[in-house]
Amino acid sequence: MDLTSIEAVERPEGDAAIAARMGCFGDGDAWLAGGTWLFSEPQPQLRRLIDLAAAGWPPISADAEGLSIAATCTIAELDRFEAPGTWQASHLIGKCCRAFLASFKIWNVATVGGNLCMSLPAGPMISLTTALDGLCEILGPSGSSRKVPALDFVHGPLENALEPGEILRGVYIPAASLMRPAAFRRISLSPMGRTGALVIGTRAPDGGFDLTVTGATRRPVRVAFSYAPGLTALRAMIDVAIPPDLWHDDIHGRPEWRRHMVMQFAAEIVAELSEGAA
Ligand SMILES: Cc1cc2nc3c(=O)[nH]c(=O)nc-3n(C[C@H](O)[C@H](O)[C@H](O)COP(=O)(O)OP(=O)(O)OC[C@H]3O[C@@H](n4cnc5c(N)ncnc54)[C@H](O)[C@@H]3O)c2cc1C
Repeated sequence: MDLTSIEAVERPEGDAAIAARMGCFGDGDAWLAGGTWLFSEPQPQLRRLIDLAAAGWPPISADAEGLSIAATCTIAELDRFEAPGTWQASHLIGKCCRAFLASFKIWNVATVGGNLCMSLPAGPMISLTTALDGLCEILGPSGSSRKVPALDFVHGPLENALEPGEILRGVYIPAASLMRPAAFRRISLSPMGRTGALVIGTRAPDGGFDLTVTGATRRPVRVAFSYAPGLTALRAMIDVAIPPDLWHDDIHGRPEWRRHMVMQFAAEIVAELSEGAA
């Protein structure tokens, strides 16, 4: 839709020009990435959009240490990435891209950073980066840069670790996490619906299991085990990690159903990853 209150759209080129905009970022300003959310509803409080598209950040780079994904990397670019064969968890990339139920037109412009910054429970890039121990790089107006684990970046729906004027520069995923065996489960209330529950499990070389719950909860939740838990212990640990008011409640699913699906998926994932280990 047209955003009728906008008086200026700026497209700074390169880091120095972006840093200059950060220095004068104020009320009425917003960073513009793919615009798939910004242009999807009225934004009467906004006067200026500062487009990150010309930042010039390489969308994806991989080396032996891990994977760097720029905030401006689109869902389509991420989906095209071909991971090294040793990165057993890399099937999660395509699965999380597909959890973003939108047309190719949205995939071609929506960005990984925009998805994290929206901080919606159903954010599939949040699912991917939290499950794989991603580290978010945040740039500040004073030229500062700080790193925040993806698990701590999202605080709740539309709430995150960004201070006014800060930019999410990108997410780094360590190769050690990408090398783990991983399992994925997701459900929505309708075949083309938004995610109601998404659980990813990874198995560590020492036999530990990490389960990361998104979609079903107001923010991402990690439940870690040093062994393959039995059903009773698994359910008890999930209930401790996710108190009743942390289950998300909206049109895409009631809390009781989301909890039920997470319990089911967690049990399936532990069984699947244990089988792989045997
Ligand atoms: C058909 C359709 C389906 C969708 N499905 C989903 C879905 O399944 N799950 C979901 O979570 N969302 C969904 N969305 C919402 C939205 O499109 C996505 O969250 C998308 O990833 C947002 O990315 P964007 O690049 O378009 O962000 P934009 O719309 O450009 O920006 C979103 C917000 O993030 C801020 N922002 C963007 N990048 C940065 C940055 N690098 N640093 C600081 N702030 C930044 C912007 O200022 C703005 O407030 C859907 C939207 C549509 C239209």
